[in-house]
Amino acid sequence: MMNEMICFLCPNSCLLETVAEGTEIKVSGNLCTKGQEFAQKELTDPERVLTTTVRVRNRRELLSVRSDRPVKKAELSELVQKLKSFEVDLPIQIGQVLISGMGLNKVSIIATSDGDSKLNTKFAQ
Ligand code: SF4
Repeated sequence: MMNEMICFLCPNSCLLETVAEGTEIKVSGNLCTKGQEFAQKELTDPERVLTTTVRVRNRRELLSVRSDRPVKKAELSELVQKLKSFEVDLPIQIGQVLISGMGLNKVSIIATSDGDSKLNTKFAQ
């Protein structure tokens, strides 16, 4: 079966065509060898860096956060749901580890804002 996907590892954004032949995956359209690895990973064990927000205790703003490493794509929604019940207390430093050992990949959730920048906040619902 043939699939198409876009490699997002660099700005070239190669359109990859993949064909599964037994356990092997043939890839074409890639300008470099990373495209082969990317397609293999996407088709067998896709992962993404989790980016979301968490609540700040006693404030309306939300704090933007991300995982320090990719998480399994299949568990992204579950982890985002878990983070909805999590609250932090300010002050927070950018890069501060807020939670460790989340998900199958045991990632850390780190702050990507300090909670005080108007650019990095939005209102909680
Ligand atoms: S295949 Fe290589 S050149 Fe193409 S987008 Fe991926 S990393 Fe970039």
